[in-house]
Amino acid sequence: MSEQNEQPIYTPEAYLDQLYAPDQDLQVIQANIEANKMPSISVAPAYGRLLTMFIKMIKAKDVLEIGALGGYSGVCLCRGLPQDGRLVSLEIRPEFAELAKGHLESLGFGKYVEYRIGEALDSLSQLKEEGRTFDFFFIDADKVNYPNYLERAIELANPGAIIVGDNILMHGRTKDPTITKKSVEAMRAFNRQIATDPRLESTTLPAFDGLAIARVL
Ligand code: SAH
Ligand code: MG
Repeated sequence: MSEQNEQPIYTPEAYLDQLYAPDQDLQVIQANIEANKMPSISVAPAYGRLLTMFIKMIKAKDVLEIGALGGYSGVCLCRGLPQDGRLVSLEIRPEFAELAKGHLESLGFGKYVEYRIGEALDSLSQLKEEGRTFDFFFIDADKVNYPNYLERAIELANPGAIIVGDNILMHGRTKDPTITKKSVEAMRAFNRQIATDPRLESTTLPAFDGLAIARVL
């Protein structure tokens, strides 16, 4: 075979990603995030599809997202919801929640979503006081609070609820013992709890930046 005919070398993630048709609605969101000079840290497309599938598979009605950014994962979550489903999305930056809300509204998901602005831990206390419970959680905000978010999620979980945590590898930092930064130590604690907490069954996916998936027993 001549060199010209050789296929490009893909990472496993890039090879699998290029099999899928571009998702125009999500591409618009991503472009607006960049145009607004917001961080380009939306969930990986493949994991976004997994979020949609999980919601459908477990027929989740009440979904909680911690960390909205521009609404990319919010759209993925809403795509899986039934007509009477609801998404509560916690976000500390009002301008991010505003952009996310606009994106969800433009795609017809406005009626499903409620944004709660402020420290996620405060909103989580408030949800607990209101007696709210959830079938699905997507933890994707400040890494230093992941262990707190996991504990709160377990408290707010309906039996059989699924808890997903994004970025559990922190671009390789969690597995590097020379790094002792607080957020990295917090993620290590989160990962250990995901793996060992007797209230959970779980698995972890190492592709992209790593994803934890736990089911509340
Ligand atoms: N889930 C989004 C990406 C979230 S990025 C997606 O995949 O599309 C992380 C988000 O968490 C940012 O928007 C950031 O502002 C928010 N955040 C960070 N610390 C927070 C806190 N303490 N409480 C609530 N939100 C927080
Ligand atoms: Mg993330």
